[in-house]
This record gives sequence, C-alpha cells and structure tokens, in this order.
Amino acid sequence: MAIVIDGKALAAKVKGEVGAEVSAMTAKPGLAVILVGDDPASRVYVNGKKRDCAECGIYSEEYALSAETSRRELLDLIGELNGRADIDGILVQLPLPRPEDEREVLLAIRPDKDVDGFHPENVGRLVTGEPGFRPCTPAGVMRMLDEYGIDPEGRHCVVLGRSNIVGKPQALMMLARSATVTVCHSRTPDLARYCREADILVSAVGRTGLVTGDMVKEGAVVIDVAMNRDADGRLCGDVDYEAAARKASHITPVPGGVGPMTRAMLMVNTLQAARLHGKN
Ligand code: NAP
Repeated sequence: MAIVIDGKALAAKVKGEVGAEVSAMTAKPGLAVILVGDDPASRVYVNGKKRDCAECGIYSEEYALSAETSRRELLDLIGELNGRADIDGILVQLPLPRPEDEREVLLAIRPDKDVDGFHPENVGRLVTGEPGFRPCTPAGVMRMLDEYGIDPEGRHCVVLGRSNIVGKPQALMMLARSATVTVCHSRTPDLARYCREADILVSAVGRTGLVTGDMVKEGAVVIDVAMNRDADGRLCGDVDYEAAARKASHITPVPGGVGPMTRAMLMVNTLQAARLHGKN
C-alpha cells in the first residue's frame, strides 16, 4: 500500500513556520483579498485565506465587491492597494463574474505584490528560472515531494492538464528540478499510455474517475490536484484512489492533500512579498 502524503499535516507545519517568522517581525506582512460577486465556492476560499492569515499573524483585508463592480472600479482599487506600504500581497479571487476582465486585472497587480504568481512577469521568471512568486498549487506539490524525500531529478513526470494556474507551472517546476516532463491535455490520444510511463503522475483535470488503477505504474508517485464532486456530492479527485494506492509508492488523498498545501503556500508567498518589501 502507498504512503499517504498528508497535505493537512504538512500545511499545518508550513503555516507554523510562517507564523514563527512573522511573530519575530516588527512590521507584519499584509494581504488584500478581493472577491467580486457572490459565488459560494469563492466565498469559502476567501474565508479560508482570511483564517490562514489570522493563524499566521498576517494582517488581512477583504474587499467584497458586488458582481456589478466595473472593471474601472476594480482597477482603481488595485491601483490604490499597489501604492500601500502595509499591503504586501494582492489577490483577486478567480473566476471573476466577467472572465473577460481577468487578463487586465491580473496585469494591474504589481508583480512584487502578485502572491498568486499569475502576472506575466512572474510567469516569465518561472520559465527562465529567476526568483519570483510561484503559483501556490504547483508550489505546494513541490513542497510535498521534498518533504517526503521524493527527488524529481531524472524521473519521468507526467502532468495531466495544461491550465495557467496548475498544469503549465507544474510542468515548468518539475523541469526546473530536472524531471523529464510530459504534459497531457484534452487532445492527447491514449492518455493511459503516458500515465503508465509516469514515475510521478500529477493529475489536474477535474474529471472524477479519469485515472484508473491500471494507468498507474507500480511504485509511481501519484499527486491528485483535482477537486471534484462525486455522485453523492462528496469531494474527490481525478484518481481512483483505492486502486491507485495499491500500486503507487506515495499518493495524495482528496480531501486532505494538495488543497491545504495550496493555502499554506499563499502564506509563504505573502511572507516572501513582505521580505521583498524590506519588512523584518
Ligand atoms: P482547467 O483550467 O479546467 O484545466 C483542465 C485541464 O484539463 C485542461 O488543460 C484540459 O485540456 C485538461 N483536460 C480536460 N479533459 C481532459 C481529458 N479527458 N484528458 C486529459 N486532459 C483533459 O482546470 P484547472 O483550473 O487547472 O484545475 C484542474 C483541477 O484542479 C480542477 O479539479 C480544480 O478544481 C482543481 N484545482 C485544485 C486546486 C487545489 O488547491 N487542490 C487548485 C486549483 C485547481 P485542454 O487545455 O485541452 O482543454
């Protein structure tokens, strides 16, 4: 049976480390979270982020704006937060009610306050291997591997999904750690063939039951990023957990795997932003 990678316990450890550093700082890090509209899932995420900040001693501010908020108003708010010394990180909860605004909004966030790591400057820094903010979900996955002594160097990592927030940055982070990387997506014929060759399999698609036990190589590391709902409304991933756990060396559960680590890495990035701004 596979070793279960305990994302919840590791997230608590990471937040503990951030909290210890913050408690020794004279000027506290500050995070502004902007929520537009009343999407219930987004509200849950924002509440979680505020709780994490409180736990770590990070100052947080929430801006809950109506779905009718214009792009101009949103850009003005970001402009104001960009100029404030007490705010180190700015996070706009996605998706926006008008997804067509997202590009311009993300571009407006100062790259040194872009704790989500979605600004093209930070994406470029990831591509070229320069320091910058790394997106929280794939950064959390890398931290999990490190914590469990799994070195990606020379291993074949297969990433399922190519989104800007998970799949692509995950592939780049694995490459930076000298894995041999394959990225699969909706147009990949015979997904199973690639999965079966993976030493490290990261699934970030959003389809329950996509990865079956026969797609997992004996001894592989299986990371399930997805957060889906099964027929009974329970949270689950892309991977058939029971079947995969019989073959994998390590596996992440859903819930309790990548999700808590994503939240913890936001705290790490906010602390990093505060340090960048000279707070100590
Ligand atoms: P997304 O933007 O919808 O991207 C999904 C990706 O999966 C796309 O690249 C898509 O390919 C690919 N795909 C779709 N059907 C496929 C198939 N049958 N075979 C292979 N690839 C397929 O989603 P996302 O934002 O990256 O999120 C992915 C999953 O991770 C979701 O379940 C989301 O809830 C979860 N998530 C979890 C966390 C966390 O903290 N745990 C954070 C973020 C996201 P194309 O590009 O060709 O369309």
